[in-house]
Amino acid sequence: MTYSQTELEHFMTAALAEGRKALPACFPNPPVGCVLVREREIIARGYTHPPGQFHAEAMALSQIAGSLKDVTAFVTLEPCAFHGRTPSCARALVQRGIGEVFAALIDPHPKNRGRGIHILQDAGIPVRVGLLQEEAERDMGRYLINGKFNTIRRQK
Ligand SMILES: [Zn+2]
Repeated sequence: MTYSQTELEHFMTAALAEGRKALPACFPNPPVGCVLVREREIIARGYTHPPGQFHAEAMALSQIAGSLKDVTAFVTLEPCAFHGRTPSCARALVQRGIGEVFAALIDPHPKNRGRGIHILQDAGIPVRVGLLQEEAERDMGRYLINGKFNTIRRQK
């Protein structure tokens, strides 16, 4: 499904609104938001839960069953690449066969830094980074590995 820039920004704005629900319970994890969209409709929403519980993507994925190949994910931060307290969200998106992913920001965390994006791309999933990046930085910048905010890679 091809969405206009206005539609894309609308969906990422919805994901940012989800992310704002995450604080303060999610701390020290960043307050990420996610929406899943099928044919211009948001079919699932998620945000970061307290450490050890759902990440935004996992919460949204838990709300729908079946094939996601016609579903687009909008996530305010690069999906995590590593299995920490919870499984990798990038791998979960691949396993569920997500159709396409839009991420607002690259996660400067040393275990991510683009690795989550590469996991998706290596699986053949189209990924675009940078949609509403400035808004995402405003919301989450101070929660991304302390003081390393300026290491966020800028992409168009
Ligand atoms: Zn995650």
